[in-house]
Amino acid sequence: MTQTDSGAATTSGTPPTPRGLLSIFAHPDDESYGAGGVMALAAAAGNPVWVLCVTNGDQGGRPGEMEVDHSLDPEIRRAELTCACEALGVSEPIFLGYRDSGMEGWGAPEGSLALAPQEEVVERMLAVIRRLRPAVIVTFDPGGVYGHPDHTATSATATTAYRRAAAEPGGPVALYHQAISRSAVTAMQAAQAAERRRAGDDRPMSEDDASQAEAFVKLARPDEDITTIVPIASVLERKIAALACHDSQMRGRAWDDAETRAQLEQMFGRETFVRVDPEPKAGEKEDRFAGLDWGRV
Ligand SMILES: [Zn+2]
Repeated sequence: MTQTDSGAATTSGTPPTPRGLLSIFAHPDDESYGAGGVMALAAAAGNPVWVLCVTNGDQGGRPGEMEVDHSLDPEIRRAELTCACEALGVSEPIFLGYRDSGMEGWGAPEGSLALAPQEEVVERMLAVIRRLRPAVIVTFDPGGVYGHPDHTATSATATTAYRRAAAEPGGPVALYHQAISRSAVTAMQAAQAAERRRAGDDRPMSEDDASQAEAFVKLARPDEDITTIVPIASVLERKIAALACHDSQMRGRAWDDAETRAQLEQMFGRETFVRVDPEPKAGEKEDRFAGLDWGRV
């Protein structure tokens, strides 16, 4: 069978069997934090794996840091994502090229995702899905982990694009939302507070950080909603290498001291998701994605 360029049909007229995993996230680094482990595992098992990044991440800094923060440079963040994809063993990233909208209240810049018509974004995602024909799509939970407007917009548009594509012949067969459980958020915040104290920083959190921490807890999913807990210890090195590629976002954080490593293992030893489609049965739990070939793991 020969797949046409559009991937929509084969010479025999039957639609191609969907294969592999497409991650749809908002900014360079979201993919590695949220689903880097599952992407590395899927790739190691022989599945094609792609990352569709909706923005260039060109607002990665914070107000007041803009003049000196090179994370504003889209070329840097795009190159960092390419580096992360190499570390995870997946295909080169695909960009939709919108500008990062920044956090709520920063004022979304021209060309940003927040100002793009939703239908346009959905159609552009659909074109990528039709070309690649993935079996499985993973994107953010509707809350976008901590409510960044680009995360929530990406979840909504990617979910709509999935539903439309899934209704077509040869469309994807499973949709996952990357989600963090409330208990994991609470544990993570306690670890971060301990890290700050260890570093001798006993200042109270900035208002910005405090409201982000609060949103994080509020937007986290109740533990019982999590359907899919993927242990990623076997590819943790790859995930850490991918995170380290996003150097402009790390603000000088070291990745190689023993304490940081122990924390990373605790924080990133597993990745958690809600399976949206096929809808799980009551109480159904799984430790890997449906719809992928895990034969070689
Ligand atoms: Zn993001």
